[in-house]
Amino acid sequence: MWNLSGRLGIDGRVIENPRFFERSRARIKKLQQGVARKCRGSKNWEKAKKKLERAYAHVTNQKNDFLHKLSRRYVDSYATICVEDLNIKYLKENDKSRGLRRSIHDAPWGRFLLYLSCEAESAGTNFVQIDPRDTTQLCSNCGSIMKKDLSVRIHECPYCGFVADRDYNAAENIHRVGLEQPFEPVEMRPLHHISVTQVLSMIAGKPRPTGAG
Ligand SMILES: [Zn+2]
Repeated sequence: MWNLSGRLGIDGRVIENPRFFERSRARIKKLQQGVARKCRGSKNWEKAKKKLERAYAHVTNQKNDFLHKLSRRYVDSYATICVEDLNIKYLKENDKSRGLRRSIHDAPWGRFLLYLSCEAESAGTNFVQIDPRDTTQLCSNCGSIMKKDLSVRIHECPYCGFVADRDYNAAENIHRVGLEQPFEPVEMRPLHHISVTQVLSMIAGKPRPTGAG
């Protein structure tokens, strides 16, 4: 079983940010300058523009490929996946900025969840979306509310003494709510970082292991 909050699952895996655009930044900048230097509407301008568009498309493909492989990895490994319902989350946190809700599925995290839900559905994996209320504030060990703003990365409970990465604590709460379980003392495991290369090296179309969970 698994769940995730932001970048982290309770399996303790932290996924490296691939930063594909940053990797192509120098090349794209050069191509942009190429377009700017040509006479607008000329044959060379058209050619330079096509090159630039292809470079952008390449980055988009890399990002989508990464997200597909990542979601595949989780769907293949777990029988149930619990996530925060992004629509509720953004509705509550950003009801002032109207454009934001529409862009949820354009943002990488939103797109990842979209892929994840599609893959989960076609593979028969349980995909549970929960109300994100208090997932970061609740102590996953004792259930006390520990208010903290975004800058506080470590959850330190003054009531029971439980200390964990902020996202790990949230992931535990998402897992508990998603599976409708009561509070139980949390067993901490060291975080395991997954590199971009590890995600990309997944073999496409690999058969699903039976009885995963
Ligand atoms: Zn506590």
